[in-house]
Amino acid sequence: MIELNINEDINPSPIDMSDNQPIPSSSESAPQFMAEAAKQEEFAEPDIKKRKISHFSGDEKKYKLEDRLGGILCCAVCLDLPRAAVYQCSNGHLMCAGCFTHVLADARLRDETATCPSCRVEISKTSATRNLAVENAVSELPAECQYCNKQFPRNSLVRHEEAECEERISGCKYSRIGCPWRGPLHERSEHEKECVHPNRSGADVMEALKSIDHQMNEERMLYDSIFDLLGYDKITINDVQLKPYRTDEFVHRLFYESSRFSALNYQWVVKARINNNQKDPTQSSERDMSYQLILKSKSVKPLSLNYIALRGPVGDINVKPRIYEFEFTEQNYETPFVKLPLPDTPECNRLLAATTINFRLIMFSK
Ligand SMILES: [Zn+2]
Ligand SMILES: [Zn+2]
Ligand SMILES: [Zn+2]
Ligand SMILES: [Zn+2]
Repeated sequence: MIELNINEDINPSPIDMSDNQPIPSSSESAPQFMAEAAKQEEFAEPDIKKRKISHFSGDEKKYKLEDRLGGILCCAVCLDLPRAAVYQCSNGHLMCAGCFTHVLADARLRDETATCPSCRVEISKTSATRNLAVENAVSELPAECQYCNKQFPRNSLVRHEEAECEERISGCKYSRIGCPWRGPLHERSEHEKECVHPNRSGADVMEALKSIDHQMNEERMLYDSIFDLLGYDKITINDVQLKPYRTDEFVHRLFYESSRFSALNYQWVVKARINNNQKDPTQSSERDMSYQLILKSKSVKPLSLNYIALRGPVGDINVKPRIYEFEFTEQNYETPFVKLPLPDTPECNRLLAATTINFRLIMFSK
């Protein structure tokens, strides 16, 4: 039996959130050039190690146009020059994509309206706009290569650092058989000529292969289990939409809940929460999300279930596959909260900044 449930909205509508307007998807409503630009949108917050805007001492600095422009075009929150998308409030204050998403996520967690950190005017995904002129101007400003310290226009820096710079860090071609050497690219061929690893014994090489095998095995086991599950008798595919709600405690806590959906002849609900229900996740710079599957039907037979959360056709959630297992009985009708395997904090903030979270939940039962 394979069921396909598209989760219909039968719950009362969620409490009014500050940012409740639907977010236009770039393909529907934005002009083509916006769609182009959206591709480069980057939600990652700036590296801790910031790119230098270029350093000149004393008087020279006042006269350097790019330094003065850098001070004007930088993000009002992190004071760094944005690497990708630049947003602005209705008064024109600039924010990089990472900081903008972070501000929206914090507002969601605090149940407040998001405001511009500079002027406190309300901001949301719909009221803030991209500023392409600033994005293009920033991409022309010089930045220093982290390896060779030469200056390049920002729009060519990534290519330079990844593919062209002779000083960029590379590894020895014998790394797979255990050579730990890492160094500037221009020293690599010199090293490889003298590298001792090709002349090592098979026994030494075995050690290096073991650790590679270990990594590969873990991955293989995951895929093996997925193929195993695909042979189960009952598989249901549910596209779940989570909406934000508040607990009615004194300090309202944010949680997410789906509408009821039916699968395997029972009724279900998915709940999700931030940082394992931490009291105030805005105090923490690390963020993650965990979710729970709740069986809503009464009088059930014991049910052994495997489940996995994936992106699905309507979501844009960036989640790694991880299989969980739970034995439902009449007394045990809620799984523990398990990690929604997101890659990092910026991805979690991106989900918080959106109005709803969509993902696909696949359930397997024998
Ligand atoms: Zn910023
Ligand atoms: Zn502002
Ligand atoms: Zn370089
Ligand atoms: Zn080597």
